[in-house]
Amino acid sequence: MLNIKILTAYPEMFPGALGYSLIGKALEEKKFCIDTIDLRKFGIGHRNNIDDEPFGGGPGMVLRPDVVEKALLSINIDPKKNSKRIYLTPSGELLNQEKLGILSKFNELVILCGRFEGVDQRAIEVFNFEELSIGNYVLAGGEIAAQVLLEGCIRLIPGVLGQSESLLEESFSDNLLEYPQYTRPKVWKDINNRLYEVPEVLTSGNHRKIKEWRYDKSVEKTKINRSDLYYKGTGIKDD
Ligand code: SAM
Repeated sequence: MLNIKILTAYPEMFPGALGYSLIGKALEEKKFCIDTIDLRKFGIGHRNNIDDEPFGGGPGMVLRPDVVEKALLSINIDPKKNSKRIYLTPSGELLNQEKLGILSKFNELVILCGRFEGVDQRAIEVFNFEELSIGNYVLAGGEIAAQVLLEGCIRLIPGVLGQSESLLEESFSDNLLEYPQYTRPKVWKDINNRLYEVPEVLTSGNHRKIKEWRYDKSVEKTKINRSDLYYKGTGIKDD
């Protein structure tokens, strides 16, 4: 079982999205568990402050390293467990599918969620938090980012998804984006009575042709939407 420990000022935001659908079922079936550690319980002084102004000036507040230390010390950490500490931050290394695969194999993930201007750098370094970003944009806090990372990891745990083969063909598994998908009705009539048909090859029953069509569509989509992946996925130099 994957043990997840979240250090956050907003523990009520969990399990959040992780309580739904196949991931929610995996939570019920104890394929993973989530403990939240409320940073506010470890605040300093009579006001229980968890953050303070940045040295050197500037706007906002920074999470104090002594608060992170106390919160970490409150966790029952089993030294025998294969454990990883992560701090979610827009200035971290960009998360990708390969990294999710690596993280999904740990027994324990300890995730620190920042707020305001972030976390005192000493806490990140002293407690060996790996800095990871979920994208080139800035959110208000690390809680949604943690759920993004965790949902991506948990679905890779064996037995969490219904059909494990669905993992093999999806976007990024071979540096190509997934081909377009279609379902019933075969001919869809919209409210303006326009008809839209499913590409004929998909209902032909010819598996070789379907495979070829899907590969061509994957390549086409990758070229249009993610030219940065196109060469990696096809070996073709785009000019
Ligand atoms: N001052 C920081 C900066 O410019 O890098 C932004 C801090 S952000 C407003 C507050 C918190 O949200 C961060 O400490 C982090 O935990 C979380 N966060 C925001 N954007 C994120 C992203 N793209 N990836 C991961 N975490 C993010």
